[in-house]
Amino acid sequence: MERAEIRIEFVPELHVFVNARRRDGRSAVTTDGSSTLGHVVESLGVPLTEVGGLVVDGAAADASHVPAAGEEVAVLAVARPQRLAGPPRFLLDVHLGTLARRLRLLGVDAAYESTDIGDPALAARSAAEQRVLLSRDRGLLHRRELWAGAYVYSHRPADQLRDVLSRFAPPLAPWTRCTACNGTLREADKTSVRAHLEHGTERSYDVFAQCTACDQVYWRGAHHEQLSGIVTEAVAEFGDGTAPTAAPSGPLHTSVAAQRRRPDGAAVGAGPA
Ligand SMILES: [Zn+2]
Repeated sequence: MERAEIRIEFVPELHVFVNARRRDGRSAVTTDGSSTLGHVVESLGVPLTEVGGLVVDGAAADASHVPAAGEEVAVLAVARPQRLAGPPRFLLDVHLGTLARRLRLLGVDAAYESTDIGDPALAARSAAEQRVLLSRDRGLLHRRELWAGAYVYSHRPADQLRDVLSRFAPPLAPWTRCTACNGTLREADKTSVRAHLEHGTERSYDVFAQCTACDQVYWRGAHHEQLSGIVTEAVAEFGDGTAPTAAPSGPLHTSVAAQRRRPDGAAVGAGPA
């Protein structure tokens, strides 16, 4: 095939992915003459999950377009909020455990594997369960099997949460999901969960919820204020005002496990989110 030189420009949102010399307007790329535009964009470092549109000589083009010599290409970012078929469900890679717990705290369906099952298995699960794979690993986001994927732009959990909420605008239902396992919570009375409680807890707290999947018990406790702050902030900025707050008398939380902290200082259950 005849090699072809094109000129390509990326919008600022995509500059994080490309070489510094491609961040200042159009730059030249020589293609092999047979590769698709999608392949060319990926080869310059941009995952297609982050591309919202391709414009060739002023007209919208598909990723399957094979660029011809002299074409001027603009690469656009995904529009926010990004619409999916049905409510967004997520799958987070092994590095995003804190983000997973915060999404669950807000009632967002966020599957997470705390052990590294490998890129092929993660991509296969995304496809099988129609979950958006969230990752900071571009190689993972290049995988063809993904049902959908999204790059998480920050390494800070607070910014990661705002990033995902602004990108997908998932309905929020705080205090309805188990932060430990992603199961749904149901109301529970003290009698029914007594076996799961330590004596001090049983005396001090009255409001309980229990995970329908892993039996984890939740009540208002040590981490409540911190978690409540995360919820209040997220609902104020991203809530649509219609999400249910399922707790029987306002928010409740903090799990049994929060008292039994792991050696790394992170609680197994509710916090620190
Ligand atoms: Zn659970």
